[in-house]
Amino acid sequence: MRMTRRDFLSASAAFAAVGIGTARAAPLPREADVVVIGAGAAGIAAARRISAANRKVIVLEASDRIGGRCLTDSKTFEVPFDRGARRLYNPDTNPMVKLARNAGLTLYNVPPGQKIRIGRRNARAGETEQFLATLVRAKRAIDEAARGRNDVSCAAALPGDLDVWAGTIDFVLGASETGKDLKDLSAIDQARSPDRIAAVGCKQGLGALLMALGQTLPVSLATPASHVTWAGRGIGVETPAGRINARAIIVTVSSNVLASGNIRFSPDLPKRQLDAAARLSLGSYDRIALWLPNNPLGLGPNEAMIEQSRDGKTALLLANANGSSLCTVDVAGDFGRALSAQGEGAMVAFASEWLAGLFGSDVAAAVKRSAATRWNAAPHVLGAMSAAEPGGQPSRRVLMEPLGAMVFAGEATHETLWGTVDGAWESGERAADAVLRRIGPLREAAPAAPRKKSHRRKRYSNPR
Ligand SMILES: Cc1cc2nc3c(=O)[nH]c(=O)nc-3n(C[C@H](O)[C@H](O)[C@H](O)COP(=O)(O)OP(=O)(O)OC[C@H]3O[C@@H](n4cnc5c(N)ncnc54)[C@H](O)[C@@H]3O)c2cc1C
Repeated sequence: MRMTRRDFLSASAAFAAVGIGTARAAPLPREADVVVIGAGAAGIAAARRISAANRKVIVLEASDRIGGRCLTDSKTFEVPFDRGARRLYNPDTNPMVKLARNAGLTLYNVPPGQKIRIGRRNARAGETEQFLATLVRAKRAIDEAARGRNDVSCAAALPGDLDVWAGTIDFVLGASETGKDLKDLSAIDQARSPDRIAAVGCKQGLGALLMALGQTLPVSLATPASHVTWAGRGIGVETPAGRINARAIIVTVSSNVLASGNIRFSPDLPKRQLDAAARLSLGSYDRIALWLPNNPLGLGPNEAMIEQSRDGKTALLLANANGSSLCTVDVAGDFGRALSAQGEGAMVAFASEWLAGLFGSDVAAAVKRSAATRWNAAPHVLGAMSAAEPGGQPSRRVLMEPLGAMVFAGEATHETLWGTVDGAWESGERAADAVLRRIGPLREAAPAAPRKKSHRRKRYSNPR
């Protein structure tokens, strides 16, 4: 079944009217086999697996919607605008692709790579070649450093002669991929994450995908977990709407939420886990959306563009999303963090000026509508995606270790696919399997399909 935009909008309206699985309106169950905290990709994956094993599960979600960092805004523009994740990388091996197709959503291929702008002109073929060769050298140097005894920052691993491309390389391999600049990134973490050789987008948006996948689950929205008891007597979760006793708990909140102390744990979380969360803190990645009718940039559908930049004050442009007038300017890393702290007005002003600098001042005048995300200020996420600080890669494994009746999941716990939707999804399924091993399924759950190995060609990555 193909879902049209109208189908999707009416389905969304229906969800909103009834509240998706809103056990909040009805009383929360007092007992469940498993309480899952968080209805993002990891939480939905975990709950589906537990439910498939016929165990009683309840998902608690602090915000008023399903999806977490997969959030599609269908109101601001004439087409869905993904405020968080928008690409499924390496579609041949990405389990979300099949789930999206089965949910009746429409996927489209994203052109690989990106154009490069040098001031007001496109890079010449020779310049692009030179950039790509420099990028390959930089990646090789990071991979080489990752094989050393001690982890170092990606910046420390770089060759010293990146010349005019140094700023662009930092942006492409650092901020635009992970939300952190290369000086703040572990070379080992970076080297372990597979290259994003190909990518697909979802016409209805990845937030819509998560909503579809969570549709039949018991999710209690606007119900934050405030206190988790994970060992001793009285294992369970407290919320403002009441307490739920459970045999096991899966916690999928972001590493920054975990480190923030917003959720109380009894016993207190061991220092080992708290340190791990801190070493996997979230980078900063935000999206400024501009409605630019009549294609003033002269770019093709879903065409991506970066610039030859001297410093981190740069961005990634994605033009004409899926053939529409929606153009997005993504800012990230230290620069993106400082800009988003100044608010939406400053972000839109930057995006307009940046485009004017690259394409001429008519572009700024052509902006008809705008919006901007501020993920660092989103109270239940507090950032974009986890990226290990130098020496921090082993923390991902630490976060995966079960603690009493509690297991952590979420993108930060995936050793290679961190920072992605599929990584979060797989981590949720893994956590569910760990919990089912502990409490036992009522019926044999289908084993996780082994993931095909993706080719690890060192190439130009696909932009977010
Ligand atoms: C701007 C941006 C662009 C991105 N682009 C891509 C991309 O193109 N492709 C890609 O694969 N990945 C991308 N990512 C990363 C991807 O979105 C994440 O890795 C993934 O969605 C994380 O899922 P999760 O379940 O681990 O966490 P989350 O989605 O953060 O889910 C955790 C949930 O826990 C809830 N929660 C928090 N506190 C509580 C509490 N006390 N009680 C109950 N619930 C609570 C939160 O509200 C949230 O819904 C992007 C991320 C951002 C921000």
